[in-house]
Amino acid sequence: MTVKIGIPRGLWFYDYYPLWKTFYESLGAEVIVSDITNKVILDQGVRNTVDEACLPVKIFHGHVLNLKDRVDYIFVPKMMSVYKNEYICPKFCGLPEMVQHSIPNLPPLIDTEINFNKSRKSLMKTVFSFGSYVTKNPIKIRNAYLKALEEYYQYKEHMKNGYIPINGIYEEKEQIPHINYRRRIAVIGHTYHIYDSYGSMNLIKKLKQQAIDVVIPEMIDMKTINDLANSLEKKMFWSYGRKILGAALHYTENKEIDGIIYISSFGCGIDSVIEDIFERWSRRSGMPFLLLTIDEHTGEAGVNTRLEAFIDMIDWRSSNEGNLSTHG
Ligand code: SF4
Repeated sequence: MTVKIGIPRGLWFYDYYPLWKTFYESLGAEVIVSDITNKVILDQGVRNTVDEACLPVKIFHGHVLNLKDRVDYIFVPKMMSVYKNEYICPKFCGLPEMVQHSIPNLPPLIDTEINFNKSRKSLMKTVFSFGSYVTKNPIKIRNAYLKALEEYYQYKEHMKNGYIPINGIYEEKEQIPHINYRRRIAVIGHTYHIYDSYGSMNLIKKLKQQAIDVVIPEMIDMKTINDLANSLEKKMFWSYGRKILGAALHYTENKEIDGIIYISSFGCGIDSVIEDIFERWSRRSGMPFLLLTIDEHTGEAGVNTRLEAFIDMIDWRSSNEGNLSTHG
């Protein structure tokens, strides 16, 4: 019988989905992804998570519930580190335990630990552990892993070339026809926040509808991001933080854009540090900057108003020599 593996459309999904999908499908499993985030998923996530959790973690719980009764396993790895000497947010590390304690009667979780701070040998052990839920054949698992890596590198290349993974739908091509953009804005933040259309209140679509070209951190190669992140006074140990700051520095220094929008999560410790650095940079560089802090109570009308005001400010500055605050 075919093993059904459920992958929740949240958190690391936006970074690694093609890798895990290819891996499990190559092993003969059926991969089922939870629905695109909607009000029911959000409400259920909020009801089944501790109040202190950030919005992306609450949404993730909603996605687990969405899969609960239709799969044999739910994929919730324990992600400690994805780059050497760096760490992911503590909420990723404790995610399997958090999910298990918050939601009763779940199918078994695939909760293998991912930790790139361990040796290469241990990485292969990790891969075999993930594969063992479908087969015990190590050659099959190794081949599936190599195929999955290839798919993952292609996905990253695709994004570098301009593809924006809205809702993580790999096959989806640009929905809005290419038009002559009047401005270019960098949208920066955690992947699971900016590419989740519901969680981001359709920010990218709204910008494109106003003839704004959107650039994202994934369009910059990791070496550039790392070099820039290394130039910071203090080392940033959180992988997401490094990427966000490196990308913001790149876009600010290259003056390729008219402004930066940073989507942050209320209650996120990493975001509170980054927001502060961003605000200082934007004052120093004169780069228009809008911070949107979102949680489950944020009203879309308020976000729309701030967005319109920000775009108006950019337009106004370009014709009035920039004598306006850069800080939206
Ligand atoms: S980094 Fe922030 S937004 Fe992401 S899971 Fe951790 S607390 Fe939540």
